[in-house]
Amino acid sequence: MNFLEVIDLHEATLAENILEIAFETAEKNHAEKILAIGLTLGEMAGVEIEALNLSFDVLKKNTPADGAELKIKRVPIMATCNKCGKNFRLENYNFFCPECDGILILKSGRELLVEFVDCE
Ligand SMILES: [Zn+2]
Repeated sequence: MNFLEVIDLHEATLAENILEIAFETAEKNHAEKILAIGLTLGEMAGVEIEALNLSFDVLKKNTPADGAELKIKRVPIMATCNKCGKNFRLENYNFFCPECDGILILKSGRELLVEFVDCE
């Protein structure tokens, strides 16, 4: 069985897209090697980091990103109450304000961005 088949398709596709962005960046900068890729990932983006790293390590082989490191920055799920306006870190998907029972509106946590590509 191909190794990739056991990896969740979502993460494999994501790793592919990340590598594509990295290759494009390297090409634009006339770089030959990709050293690191910085990723901002919201806790609510629905990405398994372990699966993503696994896919990335498999897909980068024999490419300019062979030695590249995936640096992942997690973004916590933050929400603002629609009544009292206070900000909270959302836990256990509880969308009600702990202070006034207002409804919490999501502010961050869904991010999925390639922040930087280090190449030479
Ligand atoms: Zn409130």
